Amino acid sequence: MEKVVIIRYAEIHLKGKNRGFFERVFTVNLERAMRGLRHELRRTSGRYLVENFDAERIDEVCDRISRVFGVHSYSVGYKVQSGLDEIYAVAKEVCPAEGTFKVETHRADKKFPMTSMEINAAIGGRLLSERAGLKVDVHRPNAYVYIDVRENGTALVFGEFMKGPGGMPVGTAGKGLLLISGGIDSPVAGYLMAKRGMTVECLHFHSYPYTNEQAKEKVVELTKILSRYSGTAALRTVSVTHIQEEIHKRCAEDLMITLLRRFMYRIAERVAKKIGGGCLITGESLGQVASQTIEGITSSNSVVTLPVLRPLIGFDKEEIITRSVAMGAYETSVLPFEDCCTVFLPEFPAIKPKMSYILEEESKLDVEGLLEEAMGTMKVIRIGEEKGTY
Ligand code: ATP
Ligand code: MG
Repeated sequence: MEKVVIIRYAEIHLKGKNRGFFERVFTVNLERAMRGLRHELRRTSGRYLVENFDAERIDEVCDRISRVFGVHSYSVGYKVQSGLDEIYAVAKEVCPAEGTFKVETHRADKKFPMTSMEINAAIGGRLLSERAGLKVDVHRPNAYVYIDVRENGTALVFGEFMKGPGGMPVGTAGKGLLLISGGIDSPVAGYLMAKRGMTVECLHFHSYPYTNEQAKEKVVELTKILSRYSGTAALRTVSVTHIQEEIHKRCAEDLMITLLRRFMYRIAERVAKKIGGGCLITGESLGQVASQTIEGITSSNSVVTLPVLRPLIGFDKEEIITRSVAMGAYETSVLPFEDCCTVFLPEFPAIKPKMSYILEEESKLDVEGLLEEAMGTMKVIRIGEEKGTY
């Protein structure tokens, strides 16, 4: 009586000719997720089986599987030889002692001597005769016993379909560079792009010594949380302290954020190109703060040529928080350490700055010199050496 986890995959089957590629990436991702846990991963027609794991670590196995994009659903069950007695022995484990239930059989092995209906009747009948508290309800049962008779002489028996995260396997949709702050939004933005199959690398801007070591540690932690889903290999940090000081000293106060954003985007584009990233990703959401207006976005976009993906652009804060909680980032995101943007924050930031005004103020700065200096401060923090991240 061997306990197994059955994994069904999501959109992968839609990808016709690319199917082989998607399956290979998905296999690598599942293996990476299971790293450090004893197991065997096997692909059988249209699904995966995890076998030979330590039974007492089943929760951890499920937890890891539940983070791998591409997993449509999974079930904890048993794999047995496909004989009626063997199936019944595990059906007893899956079926509750009392209440209503239904047996549902899928028979891939058409050579099996009984039809699906006959198997349902035989297993259901035996369960009923042994357990007085059970009743069949084919419409709205409290519990199911699913039996899947495979072609290879084995049967899978399980009671529940657990929902996976869906999406596409990370690594099938290129690489993007996430501008990650210590806030709630950007980790969620990274999560959503990873869900579409994108590998997400991270870049953080700090204003040390105006911001402290704890603020950086918080971003490292957020990157680690994100990396469980996103294939993130590293967090890069760049200092914008001197840039902020220069803007503060030379330019109109109300443009501090607007001008800083333009520097951030330019630096991000340079970093993205260095690491083979095809786009930038931000956590901006329309109208959420002064700089997240269409004018603000236009101003930032105009200094880069790479596309900027903003998966949260139409989300309410509440929806973003729900997702932040679900991905396990919220508690870390709300820790009270200062981000660089709160240093030198103007009392009245420009909400709809005119382009001519922005360019005039920016011309007071040595843009290229500041960019090069900032690039020189870049540090790389490797993520994911720990077990089982993905
Ligand atoms: P978040 O919750 O992600 O901090 P926010 O609502 O605070 O977002 P802003 O501070 O305006 O909004 O930032 C908008 C986006 O700009 C962020 O989602 C992030 O992608 C990027 N960003 C802001 N500050 C930084 C930073 N210090 N380092 C890297 N990216 C940043
Ligand atoms: Mg922020």
